[in-house]
Amino acid sequence: MFDEKTLRELASLEANGPILSVYLDVDSTQHSAEEYKLILREMLKHVDGQANHEDVEAVKRYVDLAYDWSGRGLALFSRTDEDLWYAFTLAVPVSSGVTVAAKPYISPLVELNGLYGRYVVALVDRQGGRFFLFEMGHLVDQEGTVGEDIRRVRKGRGSSVVGMRGGAPASGRKEAELVQRNLKDCATALSHFCQRHHPRQLLLAGAEHTIAQFQEYLPGALKDVVVGAFAADMDAKEGEIQERAFIILAELMAARKQSVIEATVTAAAKGQNGALGLEETLHVAHEGRVQVLVVEQHYHAPGYRCAGCGYLTTQPQGACSFCNGTFTEIPDAVEAVVSQVVEKGGTVEVIDSHMMMNAHIGALLRY
Ligand SMILES: [Zn+2]
Repeated sequence: MFDEKTLRELASLEANGPILSVYLDVDSTQHSAEEYKLILREMLKHVDGQANHEDVEAVKRYVDLAYDWSGRGLALFSRTDEDLWYAFTLAVPVSSGVTVAAKPYISPLVELNGLYGRYVVALVDRQGGRFFLFEMGHLVDQEGTVGEDIRRVRKGRGSSVVGMRGGAPASGRKEAELVQRNLKDCATALSHFCQRHHPRQLLLAGAEHTIAQFQEYLPGALKDVVVGAFAADMDAKEGEIQERAFIILAELMAARKQSVIEATVTAAAKGQNGALGLEETLHVAHEGRVQVLVVEQHYHAPGYRCAGCGYLTTQPQGACSFCNGTFTEIPDAVEAVVSQVVEKGGTVEVIDSHMMMNAHIGALLRY
């Protein structure tokens, strides 16, 4: 399965010849499998002559024979000559496209990872909770916790059972205390679940007032990663939880992009922790300072890379100023810097054209 470790592995890959990268949207509500096979064949025709024949055949063979048509998208990377082959079924939607380059084309995966990378949905009610860990939209772990039954207290009001056990009759106040205890226990259980899995985002689900109360018991570090909430019943199906989370995360993504763009432009204008434009961005990326790289979708630009230290630039001046190495021309410095940022642990936001006016690319810096 695709995860963050695989993404870094892909980012560090560099072949001695062309790697064929293929993304295929396979939303079964839109087209049939046969239609998607046709779409794939058409896309592959466009890279005829650039990609190796063996790789084109490997991709066709996989889609014709091996792929089970599960998921919403497919990502394939092939270079048969160097025994390089990756096939990922994606539970999240992806746009179709084919790229041929010495490095795998990973921008779409980086984008998806930022959005759906690793998140937990905590469904809570007054008695307990169900926790779901998703990675790239796949449910990878879940756990439940059940506290004391509220109904027993409620039903038992004045009854002999409760009378015999507790002495005092159960009251509304007692019920409230019990709910409080359950929510606290549930928050503790969720903390443990999150300590094990380190989600980057946490979504809460349940009745609105229960969620509000529950949130008060969360430790600060967990409160910080709560990104949204939605109403859901305790017995909701996993698929429903998955769908609702998708919708919220997509909405959040749109808002987040806007604020990252504004922060980048402001920081760059002040000359503090921000870079705008390709040359400046390449420079700060080499220093390993990029926290968030902001790049327009479909923005590509040729450039040069130092053979010694990997420094990228659009304007090489003789030898590399960092290591005295020599520069070689590369077809796409933008994709190269995306890989560099991912390798060094930064994140990437892919934005629509002109959202940053004419800068096309920029970065928010760590320090
Ligand atoms: Zn260098």
